[in-house]
Formats: sequence, C-alpha cells, structure tokens
Amino acid sequence: MNFLAGKKLVNLVLVNVSRRLGLRRSLGRPFFMLIDPCNFCNLRCPLCISVLEKGNFGEGFMPIALYREALEYFGPYLTHLNLYNWGEPFLNKHIYEMIRLAKGYDIHVTISSNLNAGEPAEIVDSGLDVLVCSLDGATQATYEKYRVKGNLERALARARQIVRLRKEKGVSKPLLIWQYLLFEHNKDELEMARGLAEQGGFDNFVSGPGHVWVEHPVIKPVSGELSRNEKGSLQ
Ligand code: SF4
Repeated sequence: MNFLAGKKLVNLVLVNVSRRLGLRRSLGRPFFMLIDPCNFCNLRCPLCISVLEKGNFGEGFMPIALYREALEYFGPYLTHLNLYNWGEPFLNKHIYEMIRLAKGYDIHVTISSNLNAGEPAEIVDSGLDVLVCSLDGATQATYEKYRVKGNLERALARARQIVRLRKEKGVSKPLLIWQYLLFEHNKDELEMARGLAEQGGFDNFVSGPGHVWVEHPVIKPVSGELSRNEKGSLQ
C-alpha cells in the first residue's frame, strides 16, 4: 500500500508548486477530502451541531452512487479521506463498502465514531486505517453528561472486540485512538480513562479542552492547568 505513488505524488508536487508560485488556481487537484456519510447521530451531545441545529437542515445519508462518483473523479489523486463530520458514520449501512472503495484507490481513511454503533468484524475487514473513539469519561455517570444517550460499556466492548479481531486476523488496522474531550465535569477521570485505554489495547490516547461555544448549565470549559493544552481545543 502506497499513499504517495504515481498520480498522487505528481499531484502533490503540482499543488505545492502552485502554492509556492501563489497561483490563484491550483495546477493540482484536492489531495484531502472530507465526506460525511451520515449527518445525524444516535447520541445527543449538547454542544454538537447535529443536536443544536436539529430541524434546521435535512437529515440523511451520503448516497452510495454519489460517493462512487466522487471517488471516480477525485480518488486517483486523494491521499487522505476523513469519513466523518457531524454525525455517526456507522449509521450508514454502506459505510463498510465506502471504506473498501476508498481503499481500492489507496487512500488513507479515518473515521471518528462514538462507538455506540458499528460492527467490529466489518470494521476490521473493511481495511479502515484509523478509528478515533469519542469517549469522554471513565464511568457511565460522567461519560453520559456529555455523550447523552451513550453507553460507555457498550462502546468499550466494541473497542475490545476490534482489538481481539485484529490479533486473531494478524492485522494492525484500524489504529484505535481514544479521544477524551476535557470539560470541568470530567477532568478528574482523565487518568482513569488513560488507564482504561491501556488495558483495553487502544494504540493512542489524546485529550484536549472541549470547545464550549454556547452557554450550557452542565457542560463548562475545563479550568486550571488542563485548559492550557498546546494542541488547542478538540471538537
Ligand atoms: S457523538 Fe459526535 S456526532 Fe454524535 S451527537 Fe455527539 S458530537 Fe455529535
């Protein structure tokens, strides 16, 4: 697997040359793309656009035919594809096919999920490269303050299954990342969560202040040392 071969490499050179020359119109094509397979969610996180703006835009899935068309045009030039934005990607019944199609173009694919959906065997077999898991607590009581309607144990069970299946099948993908958004209500469970991630076989653990962009009675920005995260706030 080589994300940087042939057309893709030539395209990146063209994009860079265009940037250096300050051209208004790039000589290359996009090398990164973000596609939202589903713009609604099974959870109700209070600061999420899909929750706050619910009813203000239509809800739906990325049609597989349109996705194929987009890949036919952009796929040969793409190096990276993020299959997520403001919804739960695994609610789209075509998600595994979407990943496979992208892998057919040698594209590095990342998904961010709440892990309250998704079939572990399908996820491992799809060839997904990176799975970011949004888990902001080490106990159900804390976790569900932000991940409303979420079930921490069910999410962790899925992660454990993925780790077990990777081992059984002798594959290293998807890379599992535990993402912990820090707020005032969950900062005391950060180290406990880090421990759970290690025990559970996650490959990485990232944390950073959650971006509190509207007033909320329960969800408050994290205070103290933890609020000064060099990586900036996470969404
Ligand atoms: S899990 Fe993600 S997409 Fe779903 S409501 Fe929460 S922030 Fe939004």
